Amino acid sequence: MRALERAQVVEVRHPLVRHKLGLLRDSSTPTQVFRQLVNELTLLLTYEATMDLATEEIEVSTPLERTTVQRISGKKVAVCPILRAGLGMLDGVLSLISGARVGFIGLYRNEETLEPIEYYVKLPADIAQRDVILLDPMLATGNSVASAVTSVKRAGAESVRLIALIAAPEGIERLHGEHPDVQIVVAGIDRELNDRGYIVPGLGDAGDRLYGTR
Ligand code: URA
Repeated sequence: MRALERAQVVEVRHPLVRHKLGLLRDSSTPTQVFRQLVNELTLLLTYEATMDLATEEIEVSTPLERTTVQRISGKKVAVCPILRAGLGMLDGVLSLISGARVGFIGLYRNEETLEPIEYYVKLPADIAQRDVILLDPMLATGNSVASAVTSVKRAGAESVRLIALIAAPEGIERLHGEHPDVQIVVAGIDRELNDRGYIVPGLGDAGDRLYGTR
């Protein structure tokens, strides 16, 4: 993918995305529906995030004649959810890119300092040859995602993009301050972070809402 020719922040304004994001924000949406909506939204955002995948022409035979068709060429994809909330987005990507390899990055944030603590990293061995899609539903302070980008780049990744559901302006600025080459594809950009590091209006704690842990 040609990293510097594309918009570095894409807020997907499609009516289906806006509708589903609205349902997701609603605190009365039950866990099961929340999980389904995260899956559907991720699928729609993946469509946008893969807009510039390279294609090549090949010939096939239809039942009627030979014709030229397009096939995705170039690098393969590695999709890397940031645990735990990013895991809720994994199936949405894999339902469109079934051959993607999957890496996992375990981070939690210290609730006082809001700094990320890395506790687990397992990446595909050939990640340097792949386009990396990081998954984290909430780009809040940007600290966790910036740390995850550093991890995949340390492993050799050169092309990295992030799919998130909601971003705070502070998180976008922080991530692009450290990694300006990372494209961000998001369903909504919200007003701000509150003093506890939550995005407002946001949707609350994405992990808790996905897994019913609060
Ligand atoms: N993580 C979440 O789950 N929600 C926020 O608002 C911020 C970080």
